[in-house]
Amino acid sequence: MSRRYFLTTAALATGAAVLHGCSRRRSPAELQGKSAVVIDPSKVVTWRLASSWTANFPVFAASVQRIADDIREMSGGRFQIEVDPSNKHKAPLGVFDLVREGQYEMGQSPAYYWKGKDPVMSLFTTVPFGLTTDEQSGWYWYGGGNELLQKAFAKHGMLAFNAGNTNMQMGGWFKREIRSIADIQGLKMRVPGLGGEIYAKIGVQVVNIPGGELYSALEKNVVDAVEWVGPAIDIPMGFQQIAQYYYTGWQEPCAELHVIVNKQSYDQLPADLQAILRIACKAQSLDLTSEMVYQNAMAWEEIQTKYPSVQVRSLPSDVLAELRKQTDVVLGEMAAQSPECKAVLDSQRAFLKKSRKWTEITTLEYLKISQELG
Ligand code: CA
Repeated sequence: MSRRYFLTTAALATGAAVLHGCSRRRSPAELQGKSAVVIDPSKVVTWRLASSWTANFPVFAASVQRIADDIREMSGGRFQIEVDPSNKHKAPLGVFDLVREGQYEMGQSPAYYWKGKDPVMSLFTTVPFGLTTDEQSGWYWYGGGNELLQKAFAKHGMLAFNAGNTNMQMGGWFKREIRSIADIQGLKMRVPGLGGEIYAKIGVQVVNIPGGELYSALEKNVVDAVEWVGPAIDIPMGFQQIAQYYYTGWQEPCAELHVIVNKQSYDQLPADLQAILRIACKAQSLDLTSEMVYQNAMAWEEIQTKYPSVQVRSLPSDVLAELRKQTDVVLGEMAAQSPECKAVLDSQRAFLKKSRKWTEITTLEYLKISQELG
């Protein structure tokens, strides 16, 4: 951190004491062993962050605020981030444009919200039947993922940083049990992204309904099933009150959130503030991912206790086999249409081939043994 941008009160006061040749009283902060900081206001950088989440959105909203708090603390107050929740800027799915056009210096969303802007974006959050959280972290940080992410965003005048992962998502809340492929054909389901495209290929009637209307749509049978996230994020939505079957997932084996940054704004930052920004995002990669593990465990226990009629199901093997087959079709189409998509898919597949072998003889084997032994 460049010290010339600010002076501590201790230094100022010491200077004053020397000048005036007299002793001085120590401030309460100094008495506690801390030195209060006086910052040259002309050196304070203030940015605005557009979040895709409402101010009270569970887990995610607090994580965004922690990024701002960490940046302020690490910079000694020289770098201030004002977070605008989606209920303020009114564009939860428009964060990409807000940052690209410079209305906000930075934003936070999962990259797959911007598939409509650029198809490659749909591959950076998660891929159906793809990498798990641990595997994807390895790919991002050491397996070439970050380089591909930066390349994709550079095309739009932005940078992107990982900012935490939801971990494995549930398959969604279903009002009736799915016993065969026939049960799923014609089913009306809210499921966005690639998962939705793949479900559509096997005959699901995929519908897109804003989050705020989902409970009522499920309650009134406008939809038969809703895919959202997992217990921690689902529980405030109330789906457990109206749907009995909670299906395990395949469509989002993890889901990375991203901080996106306008490149022109980033280039104007001093190098130390650039580093602080990157490291604050990296800290949330761990923090949010860990909090999701904790909050999902708490929320799942609450659902089991308060809503004992809720039952966990997995889709039948014929349905899953068909979904797997159609996943290859959808991803194959993407790769054929876009060299950028092909490069990301090839990189992820090559890594998955290696990482999955390792996952199988470690985590998978351990969990099987633990389950058998109790
Ligand atoms: Ca989801």
